Amino acid sequence: MATVHDILAAKGSHVQSIGLRGTILEAALLMNEHKIGSLAVLDGGDLTGIITERDLLTRVIVERRDPVSTLVEDVMTSEVVCCRPESTLEEVRGVMKNRRIRHLPVIDEGRLVGLISIGDLNAHRTQDCEATIHVMEAYIAGRA
Ligand code: AMP
Repeated sequence: MATVHDILAAKGSHVQSIGLRGTILEAALLMNEHKIGSLAVLDGGDLTGIITERDLLTRVIVERRDPVSTLVEDVMTSEVVCCRPESTLEEVRGVMKNRRIRHLPVIDEGRLVGLISIGDLNAHRTQDCEATIHVMEAYIAGRA
């Protein structure tokens, strides 16, 4: 059964992050530059929160806060739901669905070792389906 580790092996373990005292403008610029929808919030190297594009929408724009003066720590979610490298993809898909979140930091022995998004899960599933179709087509055509 495929696990988070399989995705990280292809994607890598680097996680884009920002500090608690970063501004919302800085967070938006980072997400934009890297074409990502979330940032891990670090405090002295430790994961202390997560901020996503949804937070920029609901907690900054809709509340008419100034992105230049609003700090990440005032907008982030501090109770972070995480997964482990050995978590199965079905498990993490279930967590994202039930909690209505699209990003899961990956923790191994207390260390942040990656981040899985719903986009990563969907890309993995698409690849899997394409491989299955390929094998079935070959079987039907009598090549396997
Ligand atoms: P998302 O769907 O991932 O953009 O996030 C929706 C909301 O859930 C936002 O308020 C995020 O801050 C929060 N959120 C996203 N991922 C997590 C997570 N892994 N743990 C806790 N909250 C999260």
